[in-house]
Amino acid sequence: MKIGVLGGGQLGRMLALAGYNLGLSFCIYDPDPSCCSKELAPTIHAEFNDLEKLIQFANQVDIITYENENIPYQTLMSLIQYKKIYPGIEAVRICQDRLLEKDFLKKLAIPTTDYLEINSLDEVKKAAEILKFPFFLKSRRHGYDGKGQFKITDASDIAELSEETLKIGFIAEKFVAFDREFSIICAKGLTGEILFYDLCENVHRSGVLYTTSNKINDAMFNQAKRYVEKLVDEFSYIGIVAVEFFQIGEECLVNEIAPRVHNSGHWTIEGALTSQFENHLRAIIGLPLGLTTSRCEVLMTNILGEMPDKLEFLQSNQVFLHDYHKSPKPGRKLGHYTQLINAI
Ligand code: AMP
Repeated sequence: MKIGVLGGGQLGRMLALAGYNLGLSFCIYDPDPSCCSKELAPTIHAEFNDLEKLIQFANQVDIITYENENIPYQTLMSLIQYKKIYPGIEAVRICQDRLLEKDFLKKLAIPTTDYLEINSLDEVKKAAEILKFPFFLKSRRHGYDGKGQFKITDASDIAELSEETLKIGFIAEKFVAFDREFSIICAKGLTGEILFYDLCENVHRSGVLYTTSNKINDAMFNQAKRYVEKLVDEFSYIGIVAVEFFQIGEECLVNEIAPRVHNSGHWTIEGALTSQFENHLRAIIGLPLGLTTSRCEVLMTNILGEMPDKLEFLQSNQVFLHDYHKSPKPGRKLGHYTQLINAI
């Protein structure tokens, strides 16, 4: 069976690596000629609006999945006429737009941060009155890893904004003084099965994920799981979904939904009985899901900007290095390493 993957970044790469063991083959579609999964599978380099190339892609695969939610919705609408797409195109339509995502959560009565739609400077000033300083301005689309976000701390920050910048559409979001951040990773299979990994405790630096550790039997798990079950149901979701939360005291709020495999689930490669990548593939091709149980405590750390001396990592028999074969660039995710803690 051949899986078509839209997007050829490290997530596509790790999907292919997991899938070869299951006997799957892959075709990747990514406009970037230097994308890092191209060395693992035949890759079509074309724009997402190139209908001819999209049809060529669809015709050579059995089903289609995606590794990022910023694939234009129109691209998915074109492809769905040819092949099934999982996790599903409605999840992409909602999750690629922060306003639609927040409205979706609100409709399901899933707690999220207070927010307002912003299209003009006047609306930013009104948001300051309602949400109070500080608050975040986040672009509705194409914002990830803190991109397209501004923290507005006082009136002077508002004075620096232009009407032109705001035209692309933003939301204003209340600043949350959270106690910690975590995510829940869930696998839902075509077979109807639903499984959860242990809660992932996340530490961000400058808006970018830095470390994740799995927390076995965490006190927040059940509350967060109920919210994830609700949204998986509403989307008729198939595949891996990652939901990011802010925890304040005993309560949690959804920050965002990633309808795909997720950086905070990379620890599952060595740290769980079945990785998120394998389970995503199992889910979308109709195989039973693999067990999601943690093998031990795990700490995953992202390698950002520059690749350190690899030999040093490889000295330890409890550290597992993943080099994405990307060229260094400040802040860029070049790889990650996973440390097993007290593994037997
Ligand atoms: P995002 O891309 O929206 O997930 O934001 C990236 C990171 O910025 C989050 O993981 C938080 O660490 C921080 N952040 C985003 N929104 C808020 C908020 N409303 N209040 C406090 N911190 C936030």
